[in-house]
Amino acid sequence: MTHPHPPTTPTTPTAPGPRPAPVRPAPVRPAGIVVLGSLNMDLVAYVAQAPARGETVTGRAFRTLPGGKGANQAVAAARAGAEVAMIGAVGTDGFGTRLRTALDRSGVDTDLVRTAEGPSGTAHIVVDDEGGNAIVVVPGANSAVTSLDHGDEALIATADLLLLQLELPLPAVTAGARTARAHGVRTVLTPAPVPARPLPPALLAATDLLVPNQHEAAALTGRTDPYAAARALLADVPEVVVTLGAAGCLYAARGREPVTVPAPRVTAVDTTAAGDTFVGALAVALAEGRPMPAALAWASAAAALSVQREGASPSMPYRAEIDAVLA
Ligand code: ATP
Repeated sequence: MTHPHPPTTPTTPTAPGPRPAPVRPAPVRPAGIVVLGSLNMDLVAYVAQAPARGETVTGRAFRTLPGGKGANQAVAAARAGAEVAMIGAVGTDGFGTRLRTALDRSGVDTDLVRTAEGPSGTAHIVVDDEGGNAIVVVPGANSAVTSLDHGDEALIATADLLLLQLELPLPAVTAGARTARAHGVRTVLTPAPVPARPLPPALLAATDLLVPNQHEAAALTGRTDPYAAARALLADVPEVVVTLGAAGCLYAARGREPVTVPAPRVTAVDTTAAGDTFVGALAVALAEGRPMPAALAWASAAAALSVQREGASPSMPYRAEIDAVLA
């Protein structure tokens, strides 16, 4: 579970010229983050126009890309400078090997990623020429993570922060949150995909920070206004961050006026996994003990970098790049 930090920029120029921007040094001990979540192979077909029901269209290109909300957040956090370990499952197919290898290469510890008999999780994605997409997720091996074992619990107990999403069976997600709570480990939950039924009270009770996007916030509360949705969610959790795409994010905490944090103005070319990049970087900043406003600014910088590049994990920035935006 080691993650090499990129070298920091020297603070003393050796020759006359503009002073290099100061770069925040990496902390002495990297934050320890555990991600309990999904690993999916994204099967992406690029078409001019998505087929209607009963129609067949010819696609332009096809790509297989490692993904899943859990794995994406793990890679984002590792690139942002944390030591990250993943709990999840892949299948016995070739995708499983690739998914595990992709995480290993990103410096994420996969010792507690199980191999479950059968296919890996897959996301079947059709992207049209206008950038719109339609997605079918087949959970596959992710469904096998129905509970936690002793090793999972021991790992969570030693983390600085636990990242959760809802692409694993809810009993396992709830067990993870409760284990973290029992050991004083901060929990951050991305409530996606929003289930048809209300979230388990035991999961919400063990959640410190909920990070929905505005659609998820509306689906969870029935309120389309993000301020109203955030206020409603504070009945269940102490802190909420609603992400608002190019408009930034909204932070709400019990007993305080909500505040919006604007996103850096950039030209977006691909917003895939912007939310996962945001959450991964936010988790690192919080686990390092930074106050929420500074953590949100850092996460916003990370996500703004990611939307300027193509792809999910390939677009995720490294720590020095995020620091350079804010220098
Ligand atoms: P996705 O599903 O694409 O991963 P999401 O719907 O979960 O994203 P968003 O609210 O769209 O989440 O975006 C998350 C964060 O990414 C925003 O809060 C913002 O900081 C950043 N972001 C997204 N789009 C842009 C953009 N066009 N310009 C700058 N920052 C952006």
